[in-house]
Formats: sequence, C-alpha cells, structure tokens
Amino acid sequence: MAILRFQALKETLNRKPVKIDETDRRSELFGRNVFNETVMRQFLTKEAYQSVKDATLKGTKISRGVADHISTGMKEWAISKGVTHYTHWFQPLTGATAEKHDAFFETIGDGLAIEKFGGTQLVQQEPDASSFPHGGIRNTFEARGYTAWDPTSPAFIYGTTLCIPTVYVSYTGEALDFKTPLLRALQSVDSAATAVCKYFDKNVTKVIATLGWEQEYFLIDSALYASRPDLQLSGRTLLGHSPAKGQQLDDHYFGSIPSRALAYMRDLEIECMLLGIPVKTRHNEVAPNQFELAPIFEEANLAVDHNSLLMDVMDRVGERHNFKVLFHEKPFAGINGSGKHNNWSLSTDTGINLLSPGSTPMKNLQFLAFFVNTIKAVHDHEELLRATIASASNDHRLGANEAPPAIISAFIGTQLTEVLNELEKVTDGKLSPQEKTDLKLNVVGKIPEILLDNTDRNRTSPFAFTGNKFEFRAVGSTANCANPMTVLNTIVAKQLKEFKKSVDALVKDKKMKKDDAIFNVLRDYIKKSKKIRFEGDGYGEAWQQEAKKRGLSNNKTTPLALRAKVSKQTIDLYKEMKVMNKREVEARYEIELEDYSMRIQIEGRILGDIARNHVIPTAIRYQNVLIENVRGLKEIFEKDFKKHSKEQIGIIEAISGHIEHINADINKMVDARKKANIIEDAEKRAVAYCDEVKPFFEEIRYHCDKLELLVDDETWPLTKYRELLFTR
Ligand code: ADP
Ligand code: MG
Repeated sequence: MAILRFQALKETLNRKPVKIDETDRRSELFGRNVFNETVMRQFLTKEAYQSVKDATLKGTKISRGVADHISTGMKEWAISKGVTHYTHWFQPLTGATAEKHDAFFETIGDGLAIEKFGGTQLVQQEPDASSFPHGGIRNTFEARGYTAWDPTSPAFIYGTTLCIPTVYVSYTGEALDFKTPLLRALQSVDSAATAVCKYFDKNVTKVIATLGWEQEYFLIDSALYASRPDLQLSGRTLLGHSPAKGQQLDDHYFGSIPSRALAYMRDLEIECMLLGIPVKTRHNEVAPNQFELAPIFEEANLAVDHNSLLMDVMDRVGERHNFKVLFHEKPFAGINGSGKHNNWSLSTDTGINLLSPGSTPMKNLQFLAFFVNTIKAVHDHEELLRATIASASNDHRLGANEAPPAIISAFIGTQLTEVLNELEKVTDGKLSPQEKTDLKLNVVGKIPEILLDNTDRNRTSPFAFTGNKFEFRAVGSTANCANPMTVLNTIVAKQLKEFKKSVDALVKDKKMKKDDAIFNVLRDYIKKSKKIRFEGDGYGEAWQQEAKKRGLSNNKTTPLALRAKVSKQTIDLYKEMKVMNKREVEARYEIELEDYSMRIQIEGRILGDIARNHVIPTAIRYQNVLIENVRGLKEIFEKDFKKHSKEQIGIIEAISGHIEHINADINKMVDARKKANIIEDAEKRAVAYCDEVKPFFEEIRYHCDKLELLVDDETWPLTKYRELLFTR
C-alpha cells in the first residue's frame, strides 16, 4: 500500500495535459446531438412537429398515431448520425441517472432484419428496475414501474445511443423519480403566476420557471484517487491531517487554471455543446483543485435534466484525462466545500423576467409582487426548504462550521430593504390619490433597473436576491436540482394563489381599486415575513442566537431536518398544489432516511477498516523501528541511554496512546452500529446513526491524524492532503 501511494504520485507527476483540437466553432457545435427545432423541422411531418410544440408549450397530449411519426423521424435522424441503440433516460431516486439500452435492430423472419423504433417504444417502456428505491410504493409483486416520454425535454444522442428523457412512475401513476413531482410543481407555478400576471398584463398566457445552476467540483488525479480507499468508497476523505498550506492565501480563487484541468474543461465544454448544454463560465474556486462550471440559465425542467446529464458527462470525460471528479460536498476537512447554487426566477411568455425590476412604476409593482411573494413563501416554508437540501454529505456544510448555515434566511440588499420599509408604511385600506402617486413616483418608481447591491452581495446567505433572480445557495454539489426546484416552485405557487385570493377579496368585498388591494396585501406580507430577512453575516454564533430569538429553525443534521418533509403542513401543501400525494411524500422520506443511515454505516466501516488495517500496523512498524533504536542506544550508552533516547521514548509512548484510543473508539463505534442496525423504525435508526455512531468519526480521525504526523513519511500508506490537493 505504501508503494501504491508513491507510485500514484510518480504517475501523477508524469502526466501531460491531453491535447484538445477545437476545429469547429462552439456555436456550430451547439445542439448538434439534440433532436431540436431545426432537426424536427427536417425529420418530422408538419403535423408531428406541431404536436411536439403543443406538448411542450401547452402540455397537450400526443396521440399514438402521431407518436409513430415522431419515432420514425427520430430514428431516421439518429441512424444518420451512427446511432444503433435507444434508451429511456430517467432519474430514479438513487440520485444517478438510469438507462437501459435497446437496439433499433429487429429480425423479421427469413433471416432478414430491419431497424425499428415505433411510437410505442418512444412513449412507454417497462425497465426491469425492481432494485431502484421506491419506499414501498412499488413492491415487486405489485407491479412494475414504467417510464413515459417527457416531450418537454428534447431527445439527445450520447455516444451511439439515442436518449429519450422520461418520467418514471408506478402503474398507479405515483412518482418514482425526481422529474415527475418537478413537472407537477412547474405546472402549478405556471397557473398561479399566470393568474397574478393578468393583474398587470392581460397578454401573458404562460409563466415558466428558470434555473441556472452553478456546479462546483474537485478534480483529483485518478491514480491518487485509487490510493485512497475512503475517497473511492465514500467520496470523501475520512482521515488525513490538514496540510501546512491550505487555502489561507486565497491564491487559487479565480487564478489561472492549471493546464491539465483546463484541457479537461475544454473537452467537457465541447461535449456539453454537442448535447445542447449551454455552459458558459468556468473558473477556479476557493480551494486548491476546486472548480466551478455554470451555464446560461434555461427552463427549469430542461436545466435539471442538463445538470444530471452534465454530472454523468463530467465523469466520463474525466476518464480521458485521468481525473476523478469529486462531487461530494466536503471531500476534504478544513478545506472549502462544494455547493450547487440554484439561480431561480420566473419568466413570462411575453419575455418578461418577473424578478427583474422594470423601467416603469407598473412594471415595478409587478416585480414587487413576485419579489415579496417569494420572500413570504420562503418565510412560511423555511423548514421545508431546509429539508430539501438535507443529506449526509451536505451536513458537512450546513450546520457545520461553514457558510451557508442550516438556518434558512433571505438576503435582499440595502436598496430593496429600504423599499420594503417604505411599503410597510402604506395606509390600511384605501389609499389617497396623493399617497398612491407618491408611492408610485418615490418608492416603486425609484427601484433602479440595475441594483447596486448585486456586487457586494452576501456570500453567507443561503437564499439571496442577486439583482434579477434569487440564488438558493445552500443546495449541495451532489444534489439533483429537481428537489429544491420542486419545493421552491411549489411554495411560490401556493403563495401566489393565496395572494390572488386576498387581492381579489379586497377588490370584491372592500370595493378597493386593484392597486390599492395589491399594496395592502403586500404590506401585510412584508410585515409577516420580516423575520426571514437577514442581511448580516450568516457565519457564526451571533446569527445562531438571533435566529433562535426570531423563532427560525436551525436543523443541523439530516434526520432532524428531514422531518419537515412529512409534516402536516407539507403534506397538505403538496396535496393542494397536486405535486405529490401522502404516499409519495412518505415514500421519499423513508428512502432518504434509509440513504442517510446507509451512508453513515458505510463511512463507519471504511474508517474502521482503514484505521485498523492501514494506520495501526504502520504505526506499530514505526514504533518497532524506534524500539530497535532505543535498544541500540542502550547497548552503546548503557546507563546514560535515557539522555539520548528521550525523544524516541516519547514518540513510542505517544504512538501507544493513540493506538489505544483508536482501538477503543472503533470498538465503541461497532457496538453503536450494531445497536442502530436492529432498530426497525427508519427515523429512529437514522437518528441513532447520527447521534450515536457518527460522533466517533471525529475521535478516531483525530488520533489517526496525530499518528500521520508522528510516523515516518516514507512508510505512511495513505496519500496525504498536501499531495491530493497540490499535485497537478
Ligand atoms: P455568480 O453568481 O457566480 O456571480 P451570475 O450572477 O453571473 O454568477 O449568474 C449565475 C447564474 O445565474 C448563471 O448560471 C446564470 O445563467 C444564472 N441566471 C441569470 N439570470 C437568471 C434568471 N433570470 N433565472 C435563472 N437563472 C439566471
Ligand atoms: Mg452564484
């Protein structure tokens, strides 16, 4: 094993950047492998094309007959590009994407064969997927789940396979994937937001949610990765002493990108272009070997698919460059973790970004309505938002000593805070003409189109307004964006529905003018949601105290946070907005608890193994060297030997002490694990793993890391932090 570490280092140091040839312009590459507008016009009949467009824009059904035409067109296009197989591409609750490839090839008797892909195969499939998690919804004896075509996300070619984005549902129509609830949430925010838009512009007939994610990740050489069993099996290092130099100097952030990483990024970007993923920015992140990739934002469902696809593509391109991509939220203790900011907004079919201040008071009133409603939604459902980003790996960011904290709050900047403070003073009831003019001219009318606060926005806020969108920054780097997007769009939909009801009631019952009613309702919302707004530093003890006083939740661990997912409020919310029924909600809760316990269990096992099989034997071997040395000194110096061996004896004792602690803690951890394993109830088991098993990780690690500092570097088997983070 010790040899593996040095072999890996040698291999890494000898690597050269892979040469990337970019002959075509990126704009020409863009979407080349996507069944997009241009291709559809070319390969589909007019009727079939229109049918796909209507399905995308209006949600209309595609008839079987037309599906046959579409599948034929898709097949012809795919075969013309060398494709041999097709697959339904979906996102089961494992967190990865799933596919099962079938050949177009079919025999027709008499030793003859054809390429076939019919409407039925396009529209529906039954993958034998009995081992995907389903939280009891789809018991194997009950029925099989099936995948169904999602025409709103275009088919694409990856390698030699035609991939068709699909939902994955049980025979009773219950969601078994991430996409189904997302599509339902997007539909509900569409209808709620469109109804509110009608106050301001009758021409709006559709509102879409937009998402621009920012993916953070680490790149580690594949040989170094292979030398660390903890990274390999759990995605993070479970031990390792922090290096003398980490990220203190901030010299990596936005610095020049190392050449091997740059080659990787260019290769990756070309793949993204072909797949129609509009990646635009790349840069170094705070930690050494940490990077970020961000696209131009898109319609949320498509953006979610693109992020899932991207993570897969990142892995595969990594292989060509001898890189392993680390998506884990905290691969290295003491070093910056990785997130996936979800930039979110709402946009009308008339081309208006509803969270972008406009040029007229009327447009700004519309902006304020959506802005304030979003804050109110976050206020009312802060625990659910926290729950949606909870995972064993994200616990190392949220709730640990890293911003953003586990407390959900919204940052809006000083300019908009002032506007809301003014609006809070609006008269109760009908507004005088003068007050209204004054509001329109001096408050609403004064919101600048470009908000200066964007630049110095608060980096520690989990949910920040950044000029023309909200940025949900607490999402973890491994997460499927569908989860946070489902929650955010559902709570905003619910809030907008309430808003409409209240405004309409004031207009009808109190005979108020529409504007007066809007001002009145917004004023109430601003007052009621005040405690969720926080402009200060979210990092640290002061905010924890303050948040507690305000009555905000601070669920530091996943088992605690997840509970909000099955609260009565959540179940009612999902039911009312037709996003999920109780069974679907509870199934997901169970899956996530299970996932949590399993991950902690796996980490515990790995840590125990490494400590016992790698660390302790190495420490003993080194201790023997020292003992041998002391024995020699005694032989030479006789009575005086102590004077010359003080240091060695000290280390011998220290090593024994650490070994003793490690052994004792591993034994205790194994006992705690055994106790946790026999707990039947998934929630209680997760809590036991969190409170009884996990605390030993830190203890064991502490003593292992001390040994790393004591033992001869030549014999240490595990590649060290310095080497993992700084070898390029
Ligand atoms: P950063 O947050 O790193 O400073 P930007 O503010 O430029 O970066 O934008 C980050 C992300 O926000 C990008 O992916 C961009 O596409 C996305 N974004 C910009 N406008 C919107 C919008 N209206 N809706 C959703 N995402 C958006
Ligand atoms: Mg950002």
